[in-house]
Amino acid sequence: MLALLLGALGLLPVAASPGAKNVILMIADGAGFNTFDAARMYSATRPVYDGPQWIKLACSTHPLNLSTRPTGTGRQVRELVYDPVKAWSLTEGYAWLRTGATDSAAAATAIATGVKTYNNAIGMSDRGRPLTNLHQLFQASGRSTGVVTSVPWSHATPAAMVAHNLSRNNYTEIANEMVFRSGMDVILGAGHPWYDSRGERRKEIGSAAYVGGVETFRRLTEQRTAYLYLESKLDFERLANGTLDLMGKTRVLGTARAGETLQQGRRWSGDAKSRPPFADPPLPGVPSLATMARGALRVLSANSKGFFLMVEGGAVDWANHANMPGRSIEEQLDFNDAVATVQRWVERNGGWSQNLVIVTADHETGLVWGPNSGTKPFDPLVNNGPGRLPGMAFNSTGHTRSLVPVYARGAGAWRLWDFAKRTDPVRGPYLDNTDLFRLIVGAAEL
Ligand SMILES: [Zn+2]
Repeated sequence: MLALLLGALGLLPVAASPGAKNVILMIADGAGFNTFDAARMYSATRPVYDGPQWIKLACSTHPLNLSTRPTGTGRQVRELVYDPVKAWSLTEGYAWLRTGATDSAAAATAIATGVKTYNNAIGMSDRGRPLTNLHQLFQASGRSTGVVTSVPWSHATPAAMVAHNLSRNNYTEIANEMVFRSGMDVILGAGHPWYDSRGERRKEIGSAAYVGGVETFRRLTEQRTAYLYLESKLDFERLANGTLDLMGKTRVLGTARAGETLQQGRRWSGDAKSRPPFADPPLPGVPSLATMARGALRVLSANSKGFFLMVEGGAVDWANHANMPGRSIEEQLDFNDAVATVQRWVERNGGWSQNLVIVTADHETGLVWGPNSGTKPFDPLVNNGPGRLPGMAFNSTGHTRSLVPVYARGAGAWRLWDFAKRTDPVRGPYLDNTDLFRLIVGAAEL
């Protein structure tokens, strides 16, 4: 606004560039630099964000504290802040990185609100107060909003974009806030109560917590909410192609037919540690993340004022927790496909002067390094060529404090450089996850 005013008064030397009409934030949950790299090595094609037009930096992810409930102080615990010297210590580095990591809730809250908080918080401060999130700011500017994920749609990362709850584990409450009180336009993910964690149909309905409980689920499936509800793979594809009848509704909620993850949790045979990607047949009844993203873009772009969309490759984290390299690569490639889909959409819909795309992770999971990293810290990955599992090993089953990559392209993306004030000896300049909120707010003129 100020820039426009100054521009009108002739006080700016060049016309101020207009802000980003649409912002698409893409989060590969639990994917550190080496998870991104492992997928690159396996794939015969480079991910689109390797292109020269993309800004490439690193990002710190630490939480405010390690409490699982508000402490009331709001103070940053100093020892948790990312420290390059400790992180890269050959003797202490692994131990330091493995402790004090953020969870997905605090990380997503930091990105969505610009405020560091305790682990478990969904859009809540360490003083236990609700924080204004990107969904609310975009909504207030007249724009549409949506979340898409490969894990349950009420899970931490999508939830923190839109909801407010003291604990990420209150799925029923979070889902009901999303469905009945948020006014979010598009909600797509997994978490179907009729399917188990392997993605197979149950004989009886399971827990409906992820979808807000049995009554909310019934109202959704009977089309008795503000959302057009869908769940079949065919309907997700119709949504993406623009052939699904929305029955006069403008909001869409889809629960893919998988209990927890679209594909990550399906059965496998052989040894999980050496099982290559795509060796086990995919579940036939669920859409890809790219298809869901395409569907979301179709609905959200109906608003001429613009939109905010968060797309999460949520199951990368689940694969890394399980220390399954093949599944980790599968999920990262599914995420990369979604990024490519988004890039194609941008190029046909206003281009890079109207759209801002950010690709990042909320934290690293698995302390992924090379095959000998168990005895040789920070041993690099081994590239065995396209279609072959890279030499890699996990050194943790949990989250770590490692820096994560951040890529950006489009309207206002260059401002990332303004935030990258610190430098890591290995990863180079880095910003903090709270800076992503500021970048988006500035770029979208919220
Ligand atoms: Zn996470």
